[in-house]
Amino acid sequence: MAYDDRDLSALRDVCDPKAVVPEDQHAPFLEEWRGRWPGQTPLILAPSSTAELSQIMSAAYERDIAIVPQGGNTGLVGGGVARGEVIITTKRLRAVRNISAEGFTMTLEAGVTLAEAQGHAADVDRLFPLSIGAEGTANIGGVLSTNAGGVHVLRYGNARDLVLGLEAVLPDGRIWNGLNALRKNNTGYDLKHLFMGGEGTLGIITAAVLKLYPRPRDHLTAFLAVPSADAAVKLLSMAQARSGGQLGSFELMGGPMLDLVLEKFPELSHPVDQQTPYYVLAEFASGQQGALRAMAEGILEAAFEEGLVVDGTIAADGKQSDALWELRHRATEAMKKDTSPCVKCDISVPIAAIPDFLQQADDVVHGMEPGARIIAFGHMGDGNIHYDILGPVNGDHDTFRGRMAEFEHRVHDVTVALDGSISAEHGIGQLKRDELETRKDPVELDLMRTIKRSLDPKRLMNPGKLLNL
Ligand SMILES: Cc1cc2nc3c(=O)[nH]c(=O)nc-3n(C[C@H](O)[C@H](O)[C@H](O)COP(=O)(O)OP(=O)(O)OC[C@H]3O[C@@H](n4cnc5c(N)ncnc54)[C@H](O)[C@@H]3O)c2cc1C
Repeated sequence: MAYDDRDLSALRDVCDPKAVVPEDQHAPFLEEWRGRWPGQTPLILAPSSTAELSQIMSAAYERDIAIVPQGGNTGLVGGGVARGEVIITTKRLRAVRNISAEGFTMTLEAGVTLAEAQGHAADVDRLFPLSIGAEGTANIGGVLSTNAGGVHVLRYGNARDLVLGLEAVLPDGRIWNGLNALRKNNTGYDLKHLFMGGEGTLGIITAAVLKLYPRPRDHLTAFLAVPSADAAVKLLSMAQARSGGQLGSFELMGGPMLDLVLEKFPELSHPVDQQTPYYVLAEFASGQQGALRAMAEGILEAAFEEGLVVDGTIAADGKQSDALWELRHRATEAMKKDTSPCVKCDISVPIAAIPDFLQQADDVVHGMEPGARIIAFGHMGDGNIHYDILGPVNGDHDTFRGRMAEFEHRVHDVTVALDGSISAEHGIGQLKRDELETRKDPVELDLMRTIKRSLDPKRLMNPGKLLNL
């Protein structure tokens, strides 16, 4: 894809010179987090308003110039990587348009980072519950367009569940103003859901009305050693039933994942004495001070008695809680620090099927390569497992690399046989586009293509991502 410089100049001409990112500052926009897909672009534009973005899109549409939207560039499936297209970064769309503590809503522009969004909510004593490992960098536009999940889905839902209204610029430059703060609005198709999870293939999200929640007054974090994945499922069920909806997170960590984190981050320490195949990080939250500890201790006592937990610790304060969470949050970085190639599967299955999934997938992987290191962890409360496979220590990396697609495919076979999904929260991007073709219902794929053709007839938005056309 190569564009005439006159056409590119037409895009530069419709925006403020400050919106043109100088070439010597292109590098961070072309480096993808996993280092898997190199980026290439003739032009990067950073508009500072929806109106300016609309003018750029309209000029690009007229000249058939393809666009790749980019937020924080933390996506893990290659969705924000340009392959010769113009990049539009939302990093200068930074306004807080409205915060209503009484209405429990805030309206933010796409380039506000997720951590900043949480901070804006906290400033008015409210909670914006979306929380992911990359929250310091990921943007509101990016987390919505990938429908990000994270550690609080169990209680508050995915990104999609936290949005009331949306504003987006369409491929032809028109602005769709769907920025309502209504909790009830039955007036036909709910278009915002096309853009959320749309991965920038239908338009660019420029602002959103987000839901806020009361801020919990008390938190309690427990780190528990469990004898099996089956015990973890039973523990989850017990904790949910007995806590009356106060269980906010329930994260599973495989023993090899914890070992890898401790190896790569020696400043962290193992929180319990017993070594078990799996560990659970559970967090409870309540609107009342002081009520949680007795409740959590009651649950853990019963879990010990039933053999669902063999060792554990409860954080005494916020500092200890942060240290426990650090073990979980460092998983992705620990794998990045390892020199072996890594197959990353982000799957979901019905919660009760998680032990079967883990057993069957482990058998398949070790049948293919006995030395493969399985780093399984994730949001068990959502049925979401990050099932990553690292090449053997001192193994032949080239041979392993050549089989990565096969590993992924075989793990997806197990997932689909258990009625699961090949992408739980990271999306499709370019990583899973071909897999999606073979896994999704053909009628659903056909409907998705019909929507894409209708909103983006020239196929200019993020080509080559999500769908084969
Ligand atoms: C350490 C780490 C931990 C992570 N943890 C989680 C996790 O727990 N849960 C989870 O779900 N994800 C997680 N991720 C993945 C990633 O952070 C999310 O996918 C995030 O939502 C991406 O946001 P971003 O702003 O970086 O988007 P980008 O990477 O910039 O873009 C992602 C996709 O959205 C499109 N896009 C970006 N902005 C817009 C816009 N304004 N309008 C339309 N399309 C747009 C891009 O074209 C691309 O297809 C993690 C990533 C890392 C590196």
